[in-house]
Amino acid sequence: LHHSLLTFFTISSPSPRTKLRFPRMDAATATTFHHHRRKDKVVVIMGATGSGKSRLSVDLATLFFPFSEILNSDKMQVYSDLDITTNKIPIHQRRGVPHHLLGEVDPSAGEFSPSDFRHRAGEIISDVINRRKLPIIVGGSNSFIHALLVERFDPELNMFDTESSSPSSLVISSELRYNCCFLWVDVSFPVLSEYLIKRVDDMLDSGMVDELAQFFDPNATEEMNRTGLRKAIGVPELDGFFKEHPPGSIKDEDRVWKGAYNEAVRAIKDNTCKLAKKQIGKILRLKKAGWDLHRIDATEAFTAALTSDDSWSDIWERQVLEPSVKILNCFLME
Ligand code: ATP
Repeated sequence: LHHSLLTFFTISSPSPRTKLRFPRMDAATATTFHHHRRKDKVVVIMGATGSGKSRLSVDLATLFFPFSEILNSDKMQVYSDLDITTNKIPIHQRRGVPHHLLGEVDPSAGEFSPSDFRHRAGEIISDVINRRKLPIIVGGSNSFIHALLVERFDPELNMFDTESSSPSSLVISSELRYNCCFLWVDVSFPVLSEYLIKRVDDMLDSGMVDELAQFFDPNATEEMNRTGLRKAIGVPELDGFFKEHPPGSIKDEDRVWKGAYNEAVRAIKDNTCKLAKKQIGKILRLKKAGWDLHRIDATEAFTAALTSDDSWSDIWERQVLEPSVKILNCFLME
């Protein structure tokens, strides 16, 4: 290279304590880096629910600010409504980074399919790249990520339908339509489960039940209830509870509802852990199919956070952010 692609600076965000040095893209780099190869470059942050993908995406986007934008690939977070239940990153944590397809789709219009995602996200990526910015795709829905990235997508085939006997469901193409840098944030399953169980308690404390009570429609029939959000974890579990104990009718001294409520909470925790396990299984299948995923182990940072050890953010920066930046740096210089 005749000129340095990257300039370096000492990071002041996310933690002023950090001594790490991170690359920062300058304007000249931003206008040229997409065209070093025939295919457009995108960054893809994968991982199970709760593994810290959103945090990493904003950490990276902040370093590349204002030359990157985030595109959500969580199939429940594309919809407006249920922000607590679906765990959308709150606005103040987005640190000014533009986020696309986050809460933009009307859930009452029915399900937003992998084909819809491929189409809409593809348009957004073109637009971001035309504005000389780097798209950072982040979210746990591997069917969305697959649909978006494969060169040829067949909407009739569900690649992750392990129950299907169709042999085509087992073949995942590694031919991709973008030049992708994959970062897979992984957390050992027992540690992640412990974190997810605590996260559900935090979501309940933040008003998840009220949010779902407003969403609950006692008169909805199976036919009417076609909203894209009906499958979000928390909706079916609490719908059953609200049918027995309609919102507004609950009296604190009533012991019966407490039993039913605890049962619903247990189901939410259980289903969240099951979701994480399934997502990890799908990521492993993509890796096996030849997708070049860089695994970043965030277990130690999570272990520290779970024990309220203040050093967790230093560990995060050292073990998650710094390796991610190195990988991204190499990718951008290719
Ligand atoms: P599948 O084909 O099983 O739907 P996927 O890769 O398309 O998998 P996932 O993100 O793994 O999508 O979501 C699977 C299911 O997990 C969703 O249909 C929903 O029930 C639940 N789920 C996923 N993300 C969320 C979320 N943010 N909030 C609540 N529930 C979620």
